[in-house]
Amino acid sequence: MHPDTRAVHAGRLSPERGLAGGIEPSTTFARRDDGTYGDGFSYSREAAPNRAALEAALAALEGGADAACFASGLGAMAAALAALAPGDEVLVTHDAYYSGRRLMSELFGRWGLRARQVDLADRARLAEALSARTKLLWVETPSNPMLRLTDIAAVAEAAHRAGALVAVDNTTATPVFQSPLALGADLVMHSATKYLGGHSDLLGGCLVTARRNDYWTRIREAQTLLGATPSAQDCWLISRGLQTLGARLARQSATALALAKALEADKRVAAALHPGLASHPDHALAARQTRGHSGLVSIRVKAGREAALAATRRTRLFVNATSFGGPHSLIEHRASVEGPHSRTPDNLLRLSIGLEAIEDLLADLDQALG
Ligand SMILES: *Cc1c(COP(=O)(O)O)cnc(C)c1O
Repeated sequence: MHPDTRAVHAGRLSPERGLAGGIEPSTTFARRDDGTYGDGFSYSREAAPNRAALEAALAALEGGADAACFASGLGAMAAALAALAPGDEVLVTHDAYYSGRRLMSELFGRWGLRARQVDLADRARLAEALSARTKLLWVETPSNPMLRLTDIAAVAEAAHRAGALVAVDNTTATPVFQSPLALGADLVMHSATKYLGGHSDLLGGCLVTARRNDYWTRIREAQTLLGATPSAQDCWLISRGLQTLGARLARQSATALALAKALEADKRVAAALHPGLASHPDHALAARQTRGHSGLVSIRVKAGREAALAATRRTRLFVNATSFGGPHSLIEHRASVEGPHSRTPDNLLRLSIGLEAIEDLLADLDQALG
């Protein structure tokens, strides 16, 4: 089945009852007289009906053996890292999500994890960085906000030869446009806060595994013991979001590409970054590895940092806000959000395209760029 079709049908809580399913907020469930639990649920940090339904839906969407849901994307990432051991080394995409890199280097660094930021798309650098100590490669493709791609199949092959596992942050591409497990990855991570939820009204995260192996057992243990599990309400909202994922992305993707083309031709813009543009350095890889592009576009403003910042203050439709994946178009000066250690160019604006009509978005950017 097409991913759009699977997304519509995957999230039903109870196929034989109402289409929307129910929200089951209970934290505790009654034991039978023989001490067992009817549906296998005892206490909701361990497992709960809405979370189980969402986990099954996400495993199906990513083509995985199992999925685990968390209270945020970083909660998911923390469980994947906590399932490693002190002294293990993680190689992470050098321009991956900023707070994720901080989680690895700073917080888990204090627990003895070694995190090295490497351009994983550069095969020579990757070969040089892999060692017997490397246990996990954390790949973000497309990266954000530079929207560079990494060849998942090539990285998986190199990692597996060196005895390391590969996790792919699939938040930007979504399961509609990219299937990392089919390309050889061992684990997929999502911030459901973005496209999966799709309405800027919840935090959520998940991990999907290709196999039920020892690493997955430790991840499940971390999910329960770290306790960053999602509420029944949020699981239900994400399941609802999945049902419109394909339709939302089709619209956001088409608008983003048309907008990127218009901005690339605008003389106030030094560069438009979007993998669907023929000028993008990873355009050919994108065509091979993905079925489409998200609603993210980054632009570099020719007149520099101050002009870029001024544009974020002048937009009327684009909201100057962080995050992406919702119905409202957003604009953000990433370098100032990421702080002094940011590698993001200071004339770069990231646009998250929402569900508005393109002519209104273009008119808004035209006046904002001055
Ligand atoms: C937002 C985001 C995260 C973190 O997810 P939260 O839900 O904010 O914890 C991780 N990776 C990517 C690519 C993201 O965009």
